[in-house]
Amino acid sequence: MWVVPESAIAGLMTPEAAFDAVEAVFAAMARGEARNFPVVREAIGHADALYGFKGGFDASGLTLGLKAGGYWPNNGKHGLINHQSTVFLFDPDTGRVSAAVGGNLLTALRTAAASAVSSKYLAPEGARVLGMIGAGHQSAFQMRAAVRFGDFERVIGWNPHPAMLSRLADTAAELGLPFEAVDLPRLGAEADVIISITSAFEPLLMDGHVQGPTHIAAMGTDTKGKQELDPALVARARLFTDEVAQSVSIGEFQHASAQKLISDADVTALGQVIIGRHEGRGDAEVTIFDGTGVGLQDLAVANAVVELAKQQGKAVQVDI
Ligand code: NAD
Repeated sequence: MWVVPESAIAGLMTPEAAFDAVEAVFAAMARGEARNFPVVREAIGHADALYGFKGGFDASGLTLGLKAGGYWPNNGKHGLINHQSTVFLFDPDTGRVSAAVGGNLLTALRTAAASAVSSKYLAPEGARVLGMIGAGHQSAFQMRAAVRFGDFERVIGWNPHPAMLSRLADTAAELGLPFEAVDLPRLGAEADVIISITSAFEPLLMDGHVQGPTHIAAMGTDTKGKQELDPALVARARLFTDEVAQSVSIGEFQHASAQKLISDADVTALGQVIIGRHEGRGDAEVTIFDGTGVGLQDLAVANAVVELAKQQGKAVQVDI
């Protein structure tokens, strides 16, 4: 089997490779060629940890495997980040394990790639202003991917904890774009594309904040109870997601769905737009992509990075 350590990922994985891998796997899901398996996520009763697996099989790319890991809230004292994961790939012809790949950086890159893919297909024509809600670890990756694959001239941002806003300012400076911290009414009125990536459990962006043609990539809500958007905003928008079943159960759309403001039929898998079976934005004023994070995304980027590592002689081969 091939081993690609966490420390090698930064030098191997490009945003373009992540974007292409995620776009391709969303398309494969829409064609019925790839499916995610039920997610396991359990509190293990030790170290306050949440541990689980996300897996699936993509028959078009012949990618079989799982991401194992979760959230250890006290990892700071061990000098580690709280989210820890490893991706395991298997040979779909024999069942033999074929690769073990560090999953921490890959998770940030595949999550950012998903929102960038959503903007490619759903952002309003001529989108120039990027609005960021959230300034945690993921936010910098989100901004970098949005700017790389979009045509933004400036970035505005808001965060529930203002002290963290420097991360957004620093990232915009690194990308050569002006940044301004604004309140949510201004953010909703001025941004053409909004990315929300917080750990909020209450709606932050309200229906009345959002003015004019806007695409929102709601990326923070990946667990029951989390919430970033006003359900009334969800109810008036055209809705897209990575996987419908996840979005209405653990994603952002769980709340509007529970309140019966939307039904499953109102939510379209982004892959349907990618393969040309759904028109996408059409005449909608507001579109929302609910990025819940599916196992096939992890497998797609892990597969891409193993190929890059093999080409560049950076993968280690071990017998198991
Ligand atoms: P982080 O801990 O580095 O930052 C947390 C962010 O949320 C900050 O902006 C902080 O100000 C804000 N925040 C924290 N507690 C809050 C609260 N109670 N109410 C409102 N805001 C709060 O986290 P991160 O690594 O940047 O991740 C952000 C979110 O993205 C998390 O919820 C994480 O689970 C989620 N995530 C989703 C995916 C996906 O595929 N959709 C992938 C990775 C992470």
